[in-house]
Amino acid sequence: MTKGTVSGVVSNMVTLRVDGPVQQGEICYIKTGGDRLMAEVIKVVGQDAYVQVFESTRGLKVGSEAEFTGHMLEIQLGPGMLSHNYDGLQNDLDKMEGVFLKRGEYTNPLDEERLWDFTPIVQLGDKVQESDWLGEVEENHQPLKIMAPFQLKGTATVKYIAPAGQYKIHDMIAMLETEQGEQIKVDMVQHWPVKFAMTNYTEKPRPFKLLETGVRTIDTFNPIVEGGTGFIPGPFGTGKTVLQHAISKQAEADIVIIAACGERANEVVEIFTEFPELIDPHTGRKLMERTIIIANTSNMPVAAREASVYTAMTMAEYYRSMGLRVLLMADSTSRWAQALREMSNRMEELPGPDAFPMDLGALISNFYGRAGYVYLRNGKVGSVTFLGTVSPAGGNLKEPVTENTKKVARCFYGLEQDRADKKRYPAVNPIDSYSKYLEYPEFAEYIKNHINDRWIPKVLALKTRMQRGKEIAEQINILGDDGVPVEYHVTFWKSEVIDFVILQQDAFDEIDAVTPLSRQEEILDLVTDICEHDFAFDNFLDVVDFFKKLINVCKQMNYSAYQSEQYNSYVQQIKDMIK
Ligand code: ADP
Ligand code: MG
Repeated sequence: MTKGTVSGVVSNMVTLRVDGPVQQGEICYIKTGGDRLMAEVIKVVGQDAYVQVFESTRGLKVGSEAEFTGHMLEIQLGPGMLSHNYDGLQNDLDKMEGVFLKRGEYTNPLDEERLWDFTPIVQLGDKVQESDWLGEVEENHQPLKIMAPFQLKGTATVKYIAPAGQYKIHDMIAMLETEQGEQIKVDMVQHWPVKFAMTNYTEKPRPFKLLETGVRTIDTFNPIVEGGTGFIPGPFGTGKTVLQHAISKQAEADIVIIAACGERANEVVEIFTEFPELIDPHTGRKLMERTIIIANTSNMPVAAREASVYTAMTMAEYYRSMGLRVLLMADSTSRWAQALREMSNRMEELPGPDAFPMDLGALISNFYGRAGYVYLRNGKVGSVTFLGTVSPAGGNLKEPVTENTKKVARCFYGLEQDRADKKRYPAVNPIDSYSKYLEYPEFAEYIKNHINDRWIPKVLALKTRMQRGKEIAEQINILGDDGVPVEYHVTFWKSEVIDFVILQQDAFDEIDAVTPLSRQEEILDLVTDICEHDFAFDNFLDVVDFFKKLINVCKQMNYSAYQSEQYNSYVQQIKDMIK
């Protein structure tokens, strides 16, 4: 292995004189005192390797020695990760006191002593390739696959497969023989370099399957799909966290992974205290049972912060290879971009806009590109749906992170200060937000088959009405209530009905919080009927009066258990009002 000698130290950037080949991204360990500091190669020029140390370089001296490992930053993947909290380097945060490790200390991400109930899938003599399912264990009610090593080349023959029984993660569960006659012992643990996308699937079509979240402004208005991408920009206090919790709890996903990149340590502590409290409405058990949190704060070293979103994505891809539906949320990707900026500035690279690295766009696009709905070799499907929040400084949506994200993410849920101030929650702006999936023919086909073929035209019509309502509101603002025709008031109030009945949703009301698709379908039909009804009024005061009453009944309907007697009576009242 290549060795190096420290020749310069600037904060976390260390220059090493090396005695052999070193590649970009390679991991090395620098010895200082009794500690071993982990570092990643950022740049190699001649005999000099510039490395970024993942922790404090305090006391590090020129002349200190380093050893290169020959591999990139990688993580261990195996049973035993669910419900854990890790940092960006996969240190188990639950094993430490507080959120910080001592320098040079790394924890084992997986429990090596725990026994797992293993059931074999393959049989002796079967031919397998990398990522093929060899067996199964269960963790917190999730069936997890034990797969052929991701690094396996070509086809191998199963020479041994462990019988059903209890095994530890490092016990041999299979022996494979390659075409070259090489024998490979397989245990339950995989390794993967986090910055490389897993490509262990046969096809990655454009995603098309609606991912139900129970949040109406998403499902009805701007749907996200299984394996799709979206982003949520919003200033502080506009409801990013509430929305993220709602989606995490309610979305039809098997595994939820949260990459928490906080500005301050207390934001991350908030996640650690809030998430374990969340109840999974699908099972009634703790959501945390099928969740992993990858956390970092801005007082962690920059390289660890940069790594965290990749670590989270790699875990997501791992579960996707098992045919599971994974929901990955990153809050906020702006912190990740800031880490990229700090690194690039320390490297004294030529900066791009706002001092972000020149290739920020490519980095964001590659990252979002790892999400997806995939067909596995065995014909099964898996998905990673990715939603990232962006916290643009001063709510400026023209800054580079937002702009570059907008180019790649297919859904945009813009949280708006003005709506939050008016308590119109979730404060997703109905005009600027979008879902590109609404334009996909595959998605239309799916909706046609699973809901009905009137759904999308109705949604598009309501979106147009929201736009028209906004224009009229502006006119009324300028010309006064009497300055526009009475029909304008009717049109405006119809858009208010859409807003109050479909878009606004109380995340803290037991019934209103989650709206199943069948119920959303009924609400969409009802609101469309209201919007298409011809109302004749003599003056705008009557309009206001009528619609306030109507909206009130609709809200009560939203708070009532679906198809209960009470619910049906509200629906009847609404139908009577538009006769
Ligand atoms: P952020 O994470 O963007 O700083 P939060 O998610 O913490 O903002 O939301 C701030 C507050 O807004 C919440 O404490 C809550 O009172 C209110 N809020 C946000 N979304 C909703 C919602 N869907 N229903 C009811 N209240 C909401
Ligand atoms: Mg928040």
